[in-house]
Amino acid sequence: MITAYHRPQTLDEALTLLAQPNTLPLGGGTLLSASKADSVSVVDLQALGLSTIAPKGNELEIGATVTLQQLFESEHCPAALKSALKLEAPLNLRNSATVAGTLVACDGRSSFAASLLALDAKIEQAIFDHSNIEYRISNIGEFLPLRSTRLITKITLPLNAAFAFEYVARTPSDKPILCAALAQWTSGRTRLAVGGWGKSPSLAMDGTESEGIETAARNACHEAADEYGSAEYRMEAAATLAGRCLENFRTP
Ligand SMILES: Cc1cc2nc3c(=O)[nH]c(=O)nc-3n(C[C@H](O)[C@H](O)[C@H](O)COP(=O)(O)OP(=O)(O)OC[C@H]3O[C@@H](n4cnc5c(N)ncnc54)[C@H](O)[C@@H]3O)c2cc1C
Repeated sequence: MITAYHRPQTLDEALTLLAQPNTLPLGGGTLLSASKADSVSVVDLQALGLSTIAPKGNELEIGATVTLQQLFESEHCPAALKSALKLEAPLNLRNSATVAGTLVACDGRSSFAASLLALDAKIEQAIFDHSNIEYRISNIGEFLPLRSTRLITKITLPLNAAFAFEYVARTPSDKPILCAALAQWTSGRTRLAVGGWGKSPSLAMDGTESEGIETAARNACHEAADEYGSAEYRMEAAATLAGRCLENFRTP
């Protein structure tokens, strides 16, 4: 239950408030406002100017409070990432849920988190260090298992990687039973992430080329059994989807 609400105007003010016990950042509030947790104070981030999407060189900088729908509608959003965003949540939810809140709250079925894992997104978090604001950057692969509660200010994606996303689900708009997200750089570097079960999507491959991608996809699903599918099913589906992602690069 939310028992105190703050709307700071500066990052300094926000970090000071967030240093108080039982105080959490409020993104879109779609999860936090439904929380049954004892009592929580929230720090609304909407006045901090963290809602811009800006290309910078080979990267796309996405402010923490950008909503999923804003990103979906951005001309800079890769087409395959739009498919993943559409699957992440229905329109009403996408209009409120923020990119940062979604990453903090996601589970292994998140098509958005799987996509960002393949793209090797960078997460910027702000902290106070001796009264100065310091920014720490981590790879999404480091962030997801720990979900540090530090304030996320920005997420950065590469714009110089080809990106493909494929999935299987019970219905076209349902969360995936299995999804595969593939990013490939001109150097040949190839990253495959798979999702659809568990607490977080998994990185199946980060190699210098795409050779062996189907085997890597299968191997990532060895323990992927849950009520929606067996590990054997997911291993076969992952190999097929990884192959389809590669095909997408050949026939854009
Ligand atoms: C009808 C409905 C269906 C839903 N279905 C799903 C679902 O299928 N799967 C799913 O995973 N979730 C689901 N949710 C939960 C929720 O909508 C999503 O997780 C959403 O993407 C959270 O984003 P938000 O911006 O609203 O986060 P909030 O609710 O604002 O916050 C979520 C968490 O992220 C933290 N946070 C927010 N912003 C930051 C930041 N900048 N830095 C650090 N921490 C931050 C908060 O402190 C909180 O712990 C559903 C919610 C509703 C209402």
